[in-house]
Amino acid sequence: MITTSQVADRVDANRNIQIIKRRTPSVNDRVSTIDKNWKEMITTSKIRPVLSPSCAQLKVEVDPVLSKLKKTDESIFFDGANGFGDSLFQRVVIKYLSQYFKTIYVHTPCPDLFWDIPNLKFVKEGHKWLRTQEKSAKLSRGKISPLPKGLKRTAYSYCPVRQLKKCSAYIIRTKLNIDVDDFDFTFPLRPIWISKATKLVNSFDMGGKKLCIIRPPTNRSEWDYPTRNPHPEYYQMLIDKYKDEYFYVSIADIEDNVEWLVGDLKGIDAKFHKGELSLSTIFGLMKISSMMICYPAFFMLAGIATRSKTFTIWGGCSHPAASLEESMGLWNFSYAAPDPACNCFLAEHDCNKEISKDILFGNFEELKNRKTNGRK
Ligand SMILES: [Zn+2]
Repeated sequence: MITTSQVADRVDANRNIQIIKRRTPSVNDRVSTIDKNWKEMITTSKIRPVLSPSCAQLKVEVDPVLSKLKKTDESIFFDGANGFGDSLFQRVVIKYLSQYFKTIYVHTPCPDLFWDIPNLKFVKEGHKWLRTQEKSAKLSRGKISPLPKGLKRTAYSYCPVRQLKKCSAYIIRTKLNIDVDDFDFTFPLRPIWISKATKLVNSFDMGGKKLCIIRPPTNRSEWDYPTRNPHPEYYQMLIDKYKDEYFYVSIADIEDNVEWLVGDLKGIDAKFHKGELSLSTIFGLMKISSMMICYPAFFMLAGIATRSKTFTIWGGCSHPAASLEESMGLWNFSYAAPDPACNCFLAEHDCNKEISKDILFGNFEELKNRKTNGRK
């Protein structure tokens, strides 16, 4: 016997199958390796047209019905999320809103991520920043402004990502009614960021090797998500195999009892593990590197957005399809994931993290040799 709510779910699911058919992209070969369960979930999940009020983190007071916006002289407060990766997705939403509002006051710890969008001001009015976010806010060139009283408040909610296990790109496109081909996830860099990174790289004795950035897995006390990390030995396997080809630069921001490395990778040529590098220099390094190896978090999204060659080693917690969509521009990107990948979205879970060597080396080799023909 099914309950009333199950009936409602089925009705909604039927409705949404049509929406999905119309709006879901045909995934490319790489993403199409997603498993059957995931595909079934995508086609039967409910899509909520408005932001969920049940999300404690980002309780939305005003939904401006984004697709019906008209140009206005009003300003608005965008209560942005703090995560750097989340901010890359927010760029799309804020860029969209900036066409309609006079000024957008954005709560963010990383104004640098919005440098190319006009009519923004930055405020510190939302939830607490974590340690590295505080540091970023201090280093960023954006000036923090006071928030005028009486502005309407809006935000972009992550609830569907967690609740429906859908990727942010999909949710944003659906909400803003943006086609796959028109979704702009690129993050252009200031030339000065690239110059700074080039200067740093020129100071290395690389012995003719190519630059490969390593973002090692870490855990932290403030926001602990060990399920997300891959086994560090997969990093080690790649580092060892390609040591004659790459000069490895490892980047992290660790601090005693606050954030720490998972595993001890050998064979790294230059370490910046204490937050020595600013976010903007890290972006510059990504851009001039020949390869980046990371886990599925901010570095992965930044690598995709800057169109830097990026290889991600998956752990547990969420399936690749919960983070990736063709619309983000994946032609300079690849990954190796466990099969089956866990999609529990839990901080503590015994997720399957086993990746076969064939997948790890095969996918890496394919990306290494992939020609992108200058595609930006
Ligand atoms: Zn799991």
